[in-house]
Amino acid sequence: MRSTSHRSGALVADPPPADDVPASGRSSVPSSVLLVEDDEGDALIVRRLVAAAGGIEVAVVRRLDEAREHLVAHTVQCVLLDLSLPDARGLDTVEGVRSADPDVAIVVVSGLNDEDMAVASLQRGAQDYLTKDEIDGRSLWRAIRYAVERKRSELLIRYQANHDALTGLANRLLFMERLRAAVARLARHGSHVAVLFLDLDHFKWVNDSLGHDAGDELIMEVAARLAAALRPEDVAARLGGDEFLVLVEDVRAELDAALVAERIHRMLEEPFLVRGLELRLTASVGISLSGDPGVQADALVRDADAAMYRAKALGRDRSELFDAGLRHLAQTRLQMENDLRRAVDRGEFVVHYQPVVELEEGRLVGAEALVRWCHPSGTLLPPDRFMALAEETGLIVPIGDFVLRTACEQLRVWERRAGFVPALSVNLSSVQVADPGLGRRIGGIIAAAGVDPASLCLEVTETTILGEAAASLDRLRELRGLGVRLGIDDFGTGYSSLTYLKRYPFEVLKVDRSFTAGLGVNADDAAIVEAIVGLARVLAMEVIVEGVETETQRAWLRHLGCTRAQGFLFAAPAPADQLDRWPLAE
Ligand code: C2E
Ligand code: CA
Ligand code: CA
Repeated sequence: MRSTSHRSGALVADPPPADDVPASGRSSVPSSVLLVEDDEGDALIVRRLVAAAGGIEVAVVRRLDEAREHLVAHTVQCVLLDLSLPDARGLDTVEGVRSADPDVAIVVVSGLNDEDMAVASLQRGAQDYLTKDEIDGRSLWRAIRYAVERKRSELLIRYQANHDALTGLANRLLFMERLRAAVARLARHGSHVAVLFLDLDHFKWVNDSLGHDAGDELIMEVAARLAAALRPEDVAARLGGDEFLVLVEDVRAELDAALVAERIHRMLEEPFLVRGLELRLTASVGISLSGDPGVQADALVRDADAAMYRAKALGRDRSELFDAGLRHLAQTRLQMENDLRRAVDRGEFVVHYQPVVELEEGRLVGAEALVRWCHPSGTLLPPDRFMALAEETGLIVPIGDFVLRTACEQLRVWERRAGFVPALSVNLSSVQVADPGLGRRIGGIIAAAGVDPASLCLEVTETTILGEAAASLDRLRELRGLGVRLGIDDFGTGYSSLTYLKRYPFEVLKVDRSFTAGLGVNADDAAIVEAIVGLARVLAMEVIVEGVETETQRAWLRHLGCTRAQGFLFAAPAPADQLDRWPLAE
Protein backbone atom coordinates (compact mmCIF):
# COMPACT_ATOMS: atom_id res chain seq x y z
CA MET A 1 0.00 0.00 0.00
CA ARG A 2 1.38 3.34 -0.94
CA SER A 3 0.75 6.68 0.47
CA THR A 4 2.43 9.71 -0.94
CA SER A 5 1.01 11.86 1.80
CA HIS A 6 2.83 9.96 4.55
CA ARG A 7 6.08 10.02 2.75
CA SER A 8 6.08 13.66 1.74
CA GLY A 9 5.89 14.31 5.43
CA ALA A 10 3.72 17.34 4.91
CA LEU A 11 0.09 16.59 4.56
CA VAL A 12 -1.32 15.91 7.94
CA ALA A 13 -4.00 18.53 8.01
CA ASP A 14 -6.34 16.61 5.74
CA PRO A 15 -7.88 13.59 7.30
CA PRO A 16 -6.29 10.98 5.06
CA PRO A 17 -8.48 9.46 2.35
CA ALA A 18 -10.15 6.26 3.49
CA ASP A 19 -7.64 3.85 2.05
CA ASP A 20 -4.73 5.79 3.49
CA VAL A 21 -5.86 4.84 6.93
CA PRO A 22 -4.78 1.27 7.48
CA ALA A 23 -8.00 -0.50 8.37
CA SER A 24 -7.79 -2.98 11.17
CA GLY A 25 -10.44 -5.54 10.32
CA ARG A 26 -9.93 -5.41 6.59
CA SER A 27 -7.60 -8.00 5.17
CA SER A 28 -6.76 -8.24 1.54
CA VAL A 29 -5.12 -10.91 -0.54
CA PRO A 30 -1.86 -9.53 -1.83
CA SER A 31 -2.00 -8.97 -5.55
CA SER A 32 1.25 -7.32 -6.44
CA VAL A 33 4.77 -8.37 -5.46
CA LEU A 34 8.19 -7.08 -6.43
CA LEU A 35 11.00 -9.60 -6.49
CA VAL A 36 14.46 -8.08 -6.09
CA GLU A 37 16.94 -10.80 -7.12
CA ASP A 38 20.04 -10.70 -9.31
CA ASP A 39 20.49 -14.44 -9.67
CA GLU A 40 18.42 -15.38 -12.66
CA GLY A 41 18.02 -19.00 -11.63
CA ASP A 42 16.75 -18.06 -8.16
CA ALA A 43 14.50 -15.41 -9.66
CA LEU A 44 12.91 -17.94 -11.92
CA ILE A 45 12.23 -20.38 -9.10
CA VAL A 46 10.76 -17.83 -6.75
CA ARG A 47 8.69 -16.34 -9.51
CA ARG A 48 7.26 -19.74 -10.39
CA LEU A 49 6.47 -20.48 -6.78
CA VAL A 50 4.57 -17.23 -6.39
CA ALA A 51 2.83 -17.64 -9.73
CA ALA A 52 1.72 -21.13 -8.68
CA ALA A 53 -0.28 -19.59 -5.86
CA GLY A 54 -2.24 -17.66 -8.49
CA GLY A 55 -3.61 -14.16 -8.53
CA ILE A 56 -0.35 -12.46 -7.64
CA GLU A 57 1.41 -10.31 -10.17
CA VAL A 58 5.19 -10.48 -9.87
CA ALA A 59 7.63 -7.91 -11.22
CA VAL A 60 11.33 -8.69 -11.09
CA VAL A 61 14.27 -6.29 -10.84
CA ARG A 62 17.95 -7.07 -10.33
CA ARG A 63 19.30 -4.11 -8.40
CA LEU A 64 18.34 -2.01 -5.38
CA ASP A 65 18.18 1.23 -7.35
CA GLU A 66 15.82 -0.40 -9.86
CA ALA A 67 13.71 -1.61 -6.96
CA ARG A 68 13.52 1.89 -5.52
CA GLU A 69 12.46 3.35 -8.85
CA HIS A 70 9.83 0.67 -9.27
CA LEU A 71 8.42 1.33 -5.79
CA VAL A 72 8.07 5.03 -6.45
CA ALA A 73 6.27 4.42 -9.75
CA HIS A 74 4.08 1.41 -8.88
CA THR A 75 1.79 0.14 -6.18
CA VAL A 76 3.36 -2.90 -4.57
CA GLN A 77 2.20 -4.66 -1.43
CA CYS A 78 5.19 -6.84 -0.74
CA VAL A 79 8.87 -6.92 -1.72
CA LEU A 80 10.70 -10.25 -1.87
CA LEU A 81 14.23 -9.17 -1.20
CA ASP A 82 17.55 -10.88 -1.76
CA LEU A 83 20.22 -9.53 0.57
CA SER A 84 23.10 -9.68 -1.86
CA LEU A 85 22.54 -7.39 -4.80
CA PRO A 86 25.03 -5.87 -7.24
CA ASP A 87 24.58 -2.39 -5.72
CA ALA A 88 23.83 -3.19 -2.06
CA ARG A 89 24.32 -5.94 0.48
CA GLY A 90 22.86 -7.12 3.76
CA LEU A 91 20.83 -4.75 5.90
CA ASP A 92 21.46 -1.86 3.52
CA THR A 93 19.10 -3.48 1.07
CA VAL A 94 16.33 -3.59 3.69
CA GLU A 95 17.02 0.04 4.58
CA GLY A 96 17.01 1.02 0.89
CA VAL A 97 13.60 -0.53 0.23
CA ARG A 98 12.09 0.90 3.39
CA SER A 99 13.20 4.43 2.70
CA ALA A 100 11.79 4.22 -0.84
CA ASP A 101 8.43 3.02 0.44
CA PRO A 102 7.88 2.94 4.21
CA ASP A 103 4.47 1.32 3.71
CA VAL A 104 5.51 -1.78 1.79
CA ALA A 105 5.89 -5.20 3.44
CA ILE A 106 9.32 -6.81 3.09
CA VAL A 107 10.07 -10.54 3.04
CA VAL A 108 13.76 -11.30 2.87
CA VAL A 109 14.51 -14.32 0.70
CA SER A 110 18.12 -15.08 1.44
CA GLY A 111 20.60 -17.71 0.42
CA LEU A 112 22.03 -17.61 3.94
CA ASN A 113 20.53 -19.51 6.82
CA ASP A 114 21.76 -16.99 9.37
CA GLU A 115 19.68 -16.42 12.52
CA ASP A 116 21.48 -13.22 13.50
CA MET A 117 20.95 -11.75 10.08
CA ALA A 118 17.28 -12.79 10.19
CA VAL A 119 16.72 -11.04 13.51
CA ALA A 120 18.62 -7.94 12.38
CA SER A 121 16.51 -7.79 9.21
CA LEU A 122 13.29 -7.90 11.22
CA GLN A 123 14.62 -5.19 13.51
CA ARG A 124 15.30 -3.02 10.48
CA GLY A 125 11.69 -3.35 9.39
CA ALA A 126 11.40 -6.55 7.38
CA GLN A 127 8.31 -8.61 8.16
CA ASP A 128 9.77 -12.05 7.53
CA TYR A 129 13.01 -13.86 6.66
CA LEU A 130 13.04 -17.01 4.54
CA THR A 131 15.95 -19.06 3.29
CA LYS A 132 15.87 -20.13 -0.31
CA ASP A 133 16.42 -23.80 0.37
CA GLU A 134 13.39 -24.15 2.63
CA ILE A 135 10.66 -22.37 0.73
CA ASP A 136 7.91 -24.01 -1.22
CA GLY A 137 4.92 -22.48 -2.96
CA ARG A 138 2.64 -22.73 0.01
CA SER A 139 5.03 -21.36 2.62
CA LEU A 140 6.06 -18.52 0.33
CA TRP A 141 2.49 -17.54 -0.38
CA ARG A 142 1.68 -17.63 3.30
CA ALA A 143 4.78 -15.60 4.17
CA ILE A 144 3.74 -12.90 1.68
CA ARG A 145 0.22 -12.81 2.98
CA TYR A 146 1.22 -12.63 6.65
CA ALA A 147 3.89 -10.05 5.96
CA VAL A 148 1.31 -7.80 4.30
CA GLU A 149 -1.01 -8.21 7.28
CA ARG A 150 1.79 -7.52 9.76
CA LYS A 151 2.76 -4.42 7.88
CA ARG A 152 -0.84 -3.30 7.81
CA SER A 153 -1.26 -3.61 11.56
CA GLU A 154 2.09 -1.94 12.13
CA LEU A 155 0.90 1.02 10.05
CA LEU A 156 -2.44 1.08 11.81
CA ILE A 157 -0.83 1.12 15.22
CA ARG A 158 1.53 3.86 14.15
CA TYR A 159 -1.35 5.82 12.65
CA GLN A 160 -3.37 5.51 15.85
CA ALA A 161 -0.43 6.56 17.97
CA ASN A 162 -0.01 9.69 15.88
CA HIS A 163 -3.56 10.78 15.19
CA ASP A 164 -6.58 11.97 17.01
CA ALA A 165 -9.19 9.22 16.85
CA LEU A 166 -12.17 11.55 16.54
CA THR A 167 -11.00 13.90 13.82
CA GLY A 168 -8.13 12.09 12.10
CA LEU A 169 -5.98 15.18 12.61
CA ALA A 170 -2.46 14.79 13.94
CA ASN A 171 -2.22 14.46 17.72
CA ARG A 172 0.19 16.28 19.99
CA LEU A 173 2.88 13.66 19.52
CA LEU A 174 2.97 13.95 15.73
CA PHE A 175 2.54 17.72 15.88
CA MET A 176 5.56 18.12 18.14
CA GLU A 177 7.58 15.84 15.89
CA ARG A 178 6.69 17.99 12.87
CA LEU A 179 7.29 21.19 14.78
CA ARG A 180 10.72 20.05 15.95
CA ALA A 181 11.60 19.13 12.39
CA ALA A 182 10.39 22.51 11.15
CA VAL A 183 12.37 24.32 13.83
CA ALA A 184 15.48 22.34 12.87
CA ARG A 185 15.03 23.44 9.25
CA LEU A 186 14.86 27.07 10.34
CA ALA A 187 18.58 27.33 10.79
CA ARG A 188 18.93 26.82 7.06
CA HIS A 189 16.12 29.06 5.84
CA GLY A 190 15.57 32.73 6.43
CA SER A 191 11.89 32.35 7.20
CA HIS A 192 9.80 31.78 10.32
CA VAL A 193 7.63 29.08 11.74
CA ALA A 194 4.30 30.09 13.26
CA VAL A 195 2.33 28.12 15.82
CA LEU A 196 -1.35 28.90 16.28
CA PHE A 197 -3.13 27.72 19.41
CA LEU A 198 -6.85 27.61 18.84
CA ASP A 199 -9.49 27.16 21.50
CA LEU A 200 -13.22 27.25 20.75
CA ASP A 201 -15.18 29.77 22.78
CA HIS A 202 -17.80 28.49 25.20
CA PHE A 203 -17.62 25.03 23.68
CA LYS A 204 -18.41 23.50 27.05
CA TRP A 205 -21.92 24.88 26.76
CA VAL A 206 -22.48 22.88 23.61
CA ASN A 207 -21.25 19.70 25.23
CA ASP A 208 -23.22 20.23 28.38
CA SER A 209 -26.47 21.31 26.85
CA LEU A 210 -26.60 19.22 23.67
CA GLY A 211 -24.63 16.22 24.86
CA HIS A 212 -21.22 14.83 24.03
CA ASP A 213 -22.29 13.24 20.75
CA ALA A 214 -23.35 16.60 19.40
CA GLY A 215 -20.13 18.07 20.77
CA ASP A 216 -18.13 15.41 18.93
CA GLU A 217 -19.99 16.11 15.71
CA LEU A 218 -19.15 19.75 16.03
CA ILE A 219 -15.48 19.05 16.73
CA MET A 220 -15.31 16.85 13.64
CA GLU A 221 -16.82 19.58 11.51
CA VAL A 222 -14.43 22.16 12.93
CA ALA A 223 -11.51 19.83 12.16
CA ALA A 224 -12.69 19.37 8.59
CA ARG A 225 -13.04 23.10 8.09
CA LEU A 226 -9.69 23.74 9.69
CA ALA A 227 -8.02 21.28 7.35
CA ALA A 228 -9.74 22.92 4.40
CA ALA A 229 -8.62 26.39 5.48
CA LEU A 230 -4.94 25.43 5.54
CA ARG A 231 -2.39 24.72 2.85
CA PRO A 232 -1.57 21.05 2.37
CA GLU A 233 1.86 21.58 3.86
CA ASP A 234 0.53 23.09 7.07
CA VAL A 235 -0.06 20.78 10.01
CA ALA A 236 -3.23 20.87 12.06
CA ALA A 237 -3.52 18.85 15.24
CA ARG A 238 -6.13 18.31 17.90
CA LEU A 239 -4.88 18.34 21.46
CA GLY A 240 -8.12 16.96 22.83
CA GLY A 241 -11.26 18.75 23.96
CA ASP A 242 -11.77 21.86 21.89
CA GLU A 243 -8.09 22.73 21.53
CA PHE A 244 -6.25 22.68 18.24
CA LEU A 245 -2.73 23.49 17.13
CA VAL A 246 -1.66 24.65 13.70
CA LEU A 247 1.88 24.72 12.36
CA VAL A 248 2.61 27.06 9.48
CA GLU A 249 6.04 27.00 7.89
CA ASP A 250 7.67 29.53 5.60
CA VAL A 251 6.09 32.47 7.33
CA ARG A 252 7.82 35.68 6.32
CA ALA A 253 6.41 37.97 8.96
CA GLU A 254 3.72 38.45 11.55
CA LEU A 255 1.29 39.42 8.85
CA ASP A 256 1.46 36.00 7.21
CA ALA A 257 0.59 34.30 10.48
CA ALA A 258 -2.17 36.79 11.19
CA LEU A 259 -3.67 36.03 7.78
CA VAL A 260 -3.82 32.33 8.58
CA ALA A 261 -5.57 33.17 11.85
CA GLU A 262 -7.97 35.40 9.91
CA ARG A 263 -8.79 32.51 7.59
CA ILE A 264 -9.53 30.34 10.60
CA HIS A 265 -11.89 32.91 12.10
CA ARG A 266 -13.65 33.23 8.76
CA MET A 267 -14.07 29.50 8.27
CA LEU A 268 -15.92 29.38 11.59
CA GLU A 269 -18.33 32.15 10.62
CA GLU A 270 -20.57 29.88 8.58
CA PRO A 271 -23.10 28.43 11.05
CA PHE A 272 -22.72 24.78 12.06
CA LEU A 273 -25.62 22.42 11.64
CA VAL A 274 -25.84 19.93 14.46
CA ARG A 275 -28.96 17.94 15.32
CA GLY A 276 -31.05 20.28 13.22
CA LEU A 277 -29.79 23.24 15.20
CA GLU A 278 -27.89 26.09 13.70
CA LEU A 279 -24.95 26.85 15.97
CA ARG A 280 -22.49 29.66 15.79
CA LEU A 281 -18.96 29.11 17.00
CA THR A 282 -16.05 31.42 17.53
CA ALA A 283 -12.50 30.69 18.56
CA SER A 284 -9.74 32.41 20.45
CA VAL A 285 -6.39 32.07 18.73
CA GLY A 286 -2.91 32.64 20.10
CA ILE A 287 -0.01 32.99 17.70
CA SER A 288 3.69 32.57 18.36
CA LEU A 289 6.44 33.15 15.83
CA SER A 290 9.93 31.71 15.83
CA GLY A 291 11.97 34.82 16.50
CA ASP A 292 15.50 33.52 16.73
CA PRO A 293 16.82 30.34 15.14
CA GLY A 294 17.58 28.80 18.52
CA VAL A 295 13.91 28.72 19.46
CA GLN A 296 12.53 25.57 21.08
CA ALA A 297 9.44 23.80 19.83
CA ASP A 298 8.03 23.55 23.37
CA ALA A 299 8.46 27.27 23.90
CA LEU A 300 6.55 28.07 20.71
CA VAL A 301 3.57 26.03 21.85
CA ARG A 302 3.69 27.48 25.35
CA ASP A 303 3.85 31.03 24.00
CA ALA A 304 0.96 30.43 21.60
CA ASP A 305 -1.00 29.06 24.55
CA ALA A 306 -0.29 32.20 26.59
CA ALA A 307 -1.36 34.39 23.65
CA MET A 308 -4.57 32.36 23.36
CA TYR A 309 -5.34 33.04 27.02
CA ARG A 310 -4.93 36.71 26.34
CA ALA A 311 -7.31 36.48 23.37
CA LYS A 312 -9.83 34.91 25.76
CA ALA A 313 -9.27 37.59 28.35
CA LEU A 314 -9.73 40.32 25.75
CA GLY A 315 -13.21 39.08 24.93
CA ARG A 316 -12.72 35.94 22.79
CA ASP A 317 -13.39 35.55 19.05
CA ARG A 318 -10.02 37.09 18.24
CA SER A 319 -6.34 36.41 17.72
CA GLU A 320 -3.43 37.63 19.76
CA LEU A 321 0.22 37.55 18.87
CA PHE A 322 2.65 36.52 21.58
CA ASP A 323 5.17 39.14 22.53
CA ALA A 324 7.69 39.66 25.29
CA GLY A 325 5.10 41.50 27.37
CA LEU A 326 2.95 38.42 27.24
CA ARG A 327 5.80 36.26 28.39
CA HIS A 328 5.98 38.50 31.42
CA LEU A 329 2.22 38.17 31.84
CA ALA A 330 2.44 34.40 31.58
CA GLN A 331 5.14 34.37 34.23
CA THR A 332 3.06 36.60 36.46
CA ARG A 333 0.15 34.26 36.01
CA LEU A 334 2.29 31.30 36.95
CA GLN A 335 3.58 33.14 39.99
CA MET A 336 0.01 34.04 40.93
CA GLU A 337 -1.05 30.42 40.54
CA ASN A 338 1.73 29.30 42.88
CA ASP A 339 0.77 32.00 45.37
CA LEU A 340 -2.86 30.94 45.23
CA ARG A 341 -1.99 27.29 45.86
CA ARG A 342 0.08 28.31 48.83
CA ALA A 343 -2.72 30.56 50.05
CA VAL A 344 -5.05 27.57 50.06
CA ASP A 345 -2.53 25.50 52.03
CA ARG A 346 -1.93 28.28 54.52
CA GLY A 347 -5.53 29.42 54.78
CA GLU A 348 -4.94 33.00 53.69
CA PHE A 349 -8.62 33.73 53.08
CA VAL A 350 -11.20 35.60 55.09
CA VAL A 351 -14.91 36.00 54.67
CA HIS A 352 -16.62 39.37 54.78
CA TYR A 353 -20.34 39.89 55.03
CA GLN A 354 -22.51 42.41 53.31
CA PRO A 355 -25.89 43.15 54.91
CA VAL A 356 -29.09 42.53 52.99
CA VAL A 357 -31.66 45.02 54.27
CA GLU A 358 -35.32 45.67 53.80
CA LEU A 359 -35.70 48.91 51.88
CA GLU A 360 -38.33 50.57 54.04
CA GLU A 361 -36.34 51.05 57.24
CA GLY A 362 -32.99 49.59 56.38
CA ARG A 363 -33.21 46.76 58.89
CA LEU A 364 -31.06 43.67 58.51
CA VAL A 365 -32.75 40.65 56.96
CA GLY A 366 -29.73 38.73 55.77
CA ALA A 367 -26.15 38.84 54.62
CA GLU A 368 -23.97 37.67 51.77
CA ALA A 369 -20.66 35.97 52.47
CA LEU A 370 -17.89 37.27 50.17
CA VAL A 371 -14.39 35.90 50.17
CA ARG A 372 -11.17 37.96 50.32
CA TRP A 373 -7.55 36.93 50.05
CA CYS A 374 -5.14 38.27 52.69
CA HIS A 375 -2.21 38.41 50.33
CA PRO A 376 1.25 38.11 51.94
CA SER A 377 2.03 41.54 50.47
CA GLY A 378 -0.37 42.89 53.08
CA THR A 379 -3.23 43.79 50.76
CA LEU A 380 -6.70 42.35 50.96
CA LEU A 381 -7.49 41.16 47.44
CA PRO A 382 -11.11 41.20 46.23
CA PRO A 383 -12.42 38.11 44.43
CA ASP A 384 -12.19 39.61 40.96
CA ARG A 385 -8.39 39.55 41.33
CA PHE A 386 -8.18 35.79 41.83
CA MET A 387 -11.56 34.17 41.15
CA ALA A 388 -10.92 33.41 37.46
CA LEU A 389 -7.60 31.77 38.30
CA ALA A 390 -9.17 29.88 41.20
CA GLU A 391 -11.78 28.50 38.81
CA GLU A 392 -9.31 27.61 36.07
CA THR A 393 -7.08 25.76 38.51
CA GLY A 394 -9.93 24.14 40.42
CA LEU A 395 -8.70 25.81 43.61
CA ILE A 396 -12.15 27.32 43.94
CA VAL A 397 -13.28 23.98 45.34
CA PRO A 398 -11.20 24.10 48.56
CA ILE A 399 -11.70 27.88 48.74
CA GLY A 400 -15.47 27.43 48.35
CA ASP A 401 -15.47 24.81 51.10
CA PHE A 402 -13.64 27.21 53.37
CA VAL A 403 -16.14 30.01 52.70
CA LEU A 404 -19.08 27.73 53.39
CA ARG A 405 -17.52 26.35 56.57
CA THR A 406 -16.76 29.85 57.82
CA ALA A 407 -20.23 31.07 56.92
CA CYS A 408 -21.80 28.12 58.74
CA GLU A 409 -19.75 28.87 61.86
CA GLN A 410 -21.02 32.42 61.66
CA LEU A 411 -24.59 31.20 61.33
CA ARG A 412 -24.05 29.05 64.39
CA VAL A 413 -22.97 32.14 66.35
CA TRP A 414 -26.14 33.95 65.31
CA GLU A 415 -28.30 30.94 66.08
CA ARG A 416 -26.88 30.62 69.60
CA ARG A 417 -27.64 34.26 70.20
CA ALA A 418 -31.38 34.12 70.76
CA GLY A 419 -33.74 35.95 68.44
CA PHE A 420 -33.57 36.70 64.80
CA VAL A 421 -31.12 34.83 62.52
CA PRO A 422 -30.30 36.60 59.26
CA ALA A 423 -30.50 34.55 56.06
CA LEU A 424 -26.97 33.91 54.90
CA SER A 425 -26.01 33.72 51.23
CA VAL A 426 -22.94 31.94 49.94
CA ASN A 427 -21.79 32.03 46.30
CA LEU A 428 -21.16 28.86 44.31
CA SER A 429 -18.98 28.92 41.24
CA SER A 430 -19.89 26.95 38.12
CA VAL A 431 -16.77 24.85 38.72
CA GLN A 432 -18.18 23.78 42.08
CA VAL A 433 -21.56 23.01 40.54
CA ALA A 434 -19.83 20.89 37.90
CA ASP A 435 -18.46 18.65 40.64
CA PRO A 436 -20.64 15.55 41.12
CA GLY A 437 -19.56 15.37 44.78
CA LEU A 438 -20.94 18.84 45.53
CA GLY A 439 -24.09 17.72 47.36
CA ARG A 440 -22.22 15.31 49.56
CA ARG A 441 -19.58 17.88 50.50
CA ILE A 442 -22.01 20.67 51.24
CA GLY A 443 -24.25 18.30 53.19
CA GLY A 444 -21.19 17.27 55.22
CA ILE A 445 -20.20 20.85 56.00
CA ILE A 446 -23.71 21.84 57.07
CA ALA A 447 -24.09 18.74 59.22
CA ALA A 448 -20.70 19.25 60.86
CA ALA A 449 -21.56 22.84 61.75
CA GLY A 450 -24.97 21.74 63.03
CA VAL A 451 -26.82 24.71 61.56
CA ASP A 452 -30.33 24.96 60.17
CA PRO A 453 -29.95 24.54 56.40
CA ALA A 454 -33.03 26.70 55.85
CA SER A 455 -30.98 29.74 56.94
CA LEU A 456 -28.54 29.19 54.09
CA CYS A 457 -28.99 30.38 50.54
CA LEU A 458 -26.58 29.19 47.84
CA GLU A 459 -26.23 31.59 44.91
CA VAL A 460 -25.37 30.55 41.37
CA THR A 461 -25.26 32.71 38.26
CA GLU A 462 -27.30 32.21 35.11
CA THR A 463 -24.27 31.15 33.13
CA THR A 464 -23.69 28.30 35.57
CA ILE A 465 -26.99 26.67 34.78
CA LEU A 466 -26.74 27.46 31.11
CA GLY A 467 -23.38 25.80 30.81
CA GLU A 468 -24.34 22.76 32.78
CA ALA A 469 -27.97 22.23 31.87
CA ALA A 470 -28.98 18.69 32.74
CA ALA A 471 -26.24 17.84 35.23
CA SER A 472 -26.58 21.12 37.08
CA LEU A 473 -30.31 20.68 37.40
CA ASP A 474 -29.79 17.34 39.16
CA ARG A 475 -27.11 18.75 41.38
CA LEU A 476 -29.13 21.80 42.35
CA ARG A 477 -32.11 19.61 43.17
CA GLU A 478 -29.83 17.55 45.36
CA LEU A 479 -28.80 20.74 47.21
CA ARG A 480 -32.43 21.70 47.54
CA GLY A 481 -32.94 18.26 49.07
CA LEU A 482 -30.50 19.21 51.82
CA GLY A 483 -32.95 21.90 52.86
CA VAL A 484 -30.93 24.94 51.73
CA ARG A 485 -32.43 27.66 49.59
CA LEU A 486 -31.11 28.46 46.14
CA GLY A 487 -30.69 31.87 44.59
CA ILE A 488 -29.99 33.02 41.08
CA ASP A 489 -27.27 35.67 41.06
CA ASP A 490 -26.60 38.60 38.72
CA PHE A 491 -30.00 38.07 37.13
CA GLY A 492 -30.41 39.90 33.85
CA THR A 493 -26.81 39.73 32.71
CA GLY A 494 -26.97 36.31 31.09
CA TYR A 495 -29.79 34.72 29.21
CA SER A 496 -32.49 35.50 31.77
CA SER A 497 -34.39 32.53 30.50
CA LEU A 498 -37.86 32.10 31.92
CA THR A 499 -37.62 28.38 31.29
CA TYR A 500 -34.72 28.14 33.71
CA LEU A 501 -36.53 30.12 36.34
CA LYS A 502 -39.48 27.77 36.07
CA ARG A 503 -37.54 24.54 35.90
CA TYR A 504 -34.96 25.21 38.57
CA PRO A 505 -35.74 25.22 42.26
CA PHE A 506 -34.75 28.86 42.89
CA GLU A 507 -36.37 30.78 45.68
CA VAL A 508 -34.30 33.94 45.55
CA LEU A 509 -33.58 36.17 42.58
CA LYS A 510 -30.84 38.78 42.75
CA VAL A 511 -31.18 41.62 40.30
CA ASP A 512 -27.81 42.55 38.85
CA ARG A 513 -26.41 45.87 39.96
CA SER A 514 -26.08 47.14 36.39
CA PHE A 515 -29.86 47.73 36.38
CA THR A 516 -29.71 49.51 39.73
CA ALA A 517 -27.07 51.84 38.33
CA GLY A 518 -29.45 52.81 35.54
CA LEU A 519 -32.34 53.76 37.83
CA GLY A 520 -33.21 57.42 37.42
CA VAL A 521 -30.89 57.58 34.42
CA ASN A 522 -32.23 55.07 31.99
CA ALA A 523 -35.98 54.46 31.64
CA ASP A 524 -35.40 50.99 30.26
CA ASP A 525 -33.66 49.87 33.42
CA ALA A 526 -36.59 50.91 35.57
CA ALA A 527 -38.93 49.01 33.24
CA ILE A 528 -36.71 45.93 33.41
CA VAL A 529 -36.51 45.96 37.20
CA GLU A 530 -40.27 46.37 37.38
CA ALA A 531 -40.76 43.44 35.01
CA ILE A 532 -38.38 41.25 36.99
CA VAL A 533 -40.19 42.07 40.22
CA GLY A 534 -43.50 41.16 38.60
CA LEU A 535 -42.08 37.96 37.23
CA ALA A 536 -40.61 36.96 40.58
CA ARG A 537 -43.93 37.62 42.27
CA VAL A 538 -45.70 35.26 39.87
CA LEU A 539 -43.07 32.59 40.51
CA ALA A 540 -43.21 33.24 44.28
CA MET A 541 -39.54 34.18 44.42
CA GLU A 542 -37.90 36.62 46.76
CA VAL A 543 -36.19 39.53 44.99
CA ILE A 544 -33.00 41.16 46.26
CA VAL A 545 -31.66 44.12 44.34
CA GLU A 546 -27.88 44.50 44.31
CA GLY A 547 -25.63 47.53 44.18
CA VAL A 548 -27.80 50.21 45.78
CA GLU A 549 -25.53 53.22 46.19
CA THR A 550 -27.82 56.27 46.35
CA GLU A 551 -31.01 57.40 48.01
CA THR A 552 -32.44 58.07 44.55
CA GLN A 553 -31.98 54.45 43.63
CA ARG A 554 -33.52 53.35 46.89
CA ALA A 555 -36.54 55.56 46.28
CA TRP A 556 -36.93 54.19 42.77
CA LEU A 557 -36.73 50.62 44.00
CA ARG A 558 -39.42 51.19 46.60
CA HIS A 559 -41.52 52.81 43.93
CA LEU A 560 -41.05 49.74 41.72
CA GLY A 561 -42.17 47.39 44.47
CA CYS A 562 -38.81 46.05 45.59
CA THR A 563 -38.48 45.21 49.26
CA ARG A 564 -34.95 43.92 49.79
CA ALA A 565 -31.57 45.15 48.69
CA GLN A 566 -27.86 45.30 49.38
CA GLY A 567 -25.37 47.95 48.44
CA PHE A 568 -22.84 50.49 49.58
CA LEU A 569 -25.67 52.85 50.58
CA PHE A 570 -26.33 50.50 53.47
CA ALA A 571 -22.95 48.87 53.99
CA ALA A 572 -20.00 47.49 52.10
CA PRO A 573 -18.89 43.94 52.84
CA ALA A 574 -17.00 43.85 56.15
CA PRO A 575 -15.97 41.43 58.91
CA ALA A 576 -18.82 39.68 60.73
CA ASP A 577 -18.86 41.88 63.83
CA GLN A 578 -20.08 44.77 61.69
CA LEU A 579 -23.41 42.96 61.43
CA ASP A 580 -23.81 42.91 65.19
CA ARG A 581 -24.30 46.66 65.18
CA TRP A 582 -27.10 46.49 62.68
CA PRO A 583 -30.75 47.04 63.64
CA LEU A 584 -32.41 43.68 63.13
CA ALA A 585 -35.67 43.02 61.38
CA GLU A 586 -38.38 41.49 63.50
P1 C2E B 1 -21.62 38.98 43.62
O1 C2E B 1 -22.05 37.66 44.12
O2 C2E B 1 -22.53 39.68 42.67
O3 C2E B 1 -21.37 39.87 44.90
C1 C2E B 1 -21.68 41.21 45.00
C2 C2E B 1 -20.53 42.07 44.68
O4 C2E B 1 -20.96 43.40 44.53
C3 C2E B 1 -19.46 42.08 45.79
O5 C2E B 1 -18.20 42.23 45.16
C4 C2E B 1 -19.83 43.35 46.52
O6 C2E B 1 -18.73 43.90 47.22
C5 C2E B 1 -20.22 44.23 45.40
N1 C2E B 1 -21.11 45.31 45.84
C6 C2E B 1 -21.95 45.29 46.88
N2 C2E B 1 -22.63 46.46 46.97
C7 C2E B 1 -22.21 47.22 45.94
C8 C2E B 1 -22.54 48.54 45.49
O7 C2E B 1 -23.34 49.24 46.04
N3 C2E B 1 -21.88 48.99 44.39
C9 C2E B 1 -20.96 48.26 43.74
N4 C2E B 1 -20.36 48.77 42.67
N5 C2E B 1 -20.63 47.00 44.15
C10 C2E B 1 -21.25 46.49 45.23
P2 C2E B 1 -17.00 41.33 45.58
O8 C2E B 1 -17.00 41.04 47.03
O9 C2E B 1 -15.79 41.98 44.99
O10 C2E B 1 -17.29 39.98 44.83
C11 C2E B 1 -17.32 39.93 43.45
C12 C2E B 1 -17.84 38.62 42.97
O11 C2E B 1 -16.96 37.57 43.31
C13 C2E B 1 -19.15 38.24 43.60
O12 C2E B 1 -20.18 38.89 42.92
C14 C2E B 1 -19.16 36.77 43.39
O13 C2E B 1 -19.59 36.45 42.09
C15 C2E B 1 -17.72 36.42 43.53
N6 C2E B 1 -17.48 35.88 44.86
C16 C2E B 1 -17.27 36.53 46.01
N7 C2E B 1 -17.09 35.65 47.02
C17 C2E B 1 -17.19 34.43 46.51
C18 C2E B 1 -17.12 33.10 47.03
O14 C2E B 1 -16.94 32.86 48.21
N8 C2E B 1 -17.28 32.07 46.17
C19 C2E B 1 -17.53 32.30 44.85
N9 C2E B 1 -17.69 31.23 44.06
N10 C2E B 1 -17.62 33.52 44.33
C20 C2E B 1 -17.45 34.58 45.13
CA1 CA C 1 -23.69 36.71 44.97
CA1 CA D 1 -24.54 39.34 42.20
